[in-house]
Amino acid sequence: MDILVTNDDGIRSKGLIDLVKALSIVGNVYVVAPDRERSGTGHAVTMYRPLRVAEQSIPGAVAGFQVDGTPADCVKLGLGALLDHRPDLVVSGVNAGPNLGTDVLYSGTVSAAVEALIMGIPALAVSIADYSAEWLGLDAAVALAGRTAQDVQERGLPEDTLLNINLPRLPAAQIKGIRITRVGIRRYRDFVEKRTDPWGRTYYWLTGEAIDLEDGADSDTSAVREGFISVTPVRFQLTHETFRDELAEWYWK
Ligand code: MN
Repeated sequence: MDILVTNDDGIRSKGLIDLVKALSIVGNVYVVAPDRERSGTGHAVTMYRPLRVAEQSIPGAVAGFQVDGTPADCVKLGLGALLDHRPDLVVSGVNAGPNLGTDVLYSGTVSAAVEALIMGIPALAVSIADYSAEWLGLDAAVALAGRTAQDVQERGLPEDTLLNINLPRLPAAQIKGIRITRVGIRRYRDFVEKRTDPWGRTYYWLTGEAIDLEDGADSDTSAVREGFISVTPVRFQLTHETFRDELAEWYWK
């Protein structure tokens, strides 16, 4: 099986390097990833400047390319130019930091997987709830990515569906199990900091403390908070189907 690996933390991230090693056991791995960190860039694409590519040697990968663009750009270039055939699967990660709840909309990691779906290729997004240099959960994450890649190959996924996988910040032995979850709702408190620069000018920094609204035990946010691995089947069906009829009355009355 041929696997395209990308991420939003940049091609030198340990999360990607370890993921490539693990996936090289189950398939031929091709890497197309940003040349620097592009976390929080969502589904942005680069349209008004050129994209430059440089080959990179990555242990376990058949070929590697760094791109001076976003995660979604990387998937587009991989499928449209850099790989000579379509991969069977796109895997994005392993991201340093969780991608839970409504954060999936900000996530470059998840957006790369969504871009694969748009192109008709099944995809996984893999993240750990650890931003530290310990990379707690990474070994379990790459092992689960390998196993899930094989499952996708054997069983397939519904056409418009990706798997968003998040691991808790725990040593492997303390992880309580796997929950199949739904996307929870995560908001932020104190999400803008107003500061002053050394010259007395005001600037702003987006930040905030995540608030998980009560979602029930089957939400991705609850699962990871309670020490479980969260696996969510995510799709980008954006239409509110049941509201369409009521909305029509606004215009037809
Ligand atoms: Mn990231």
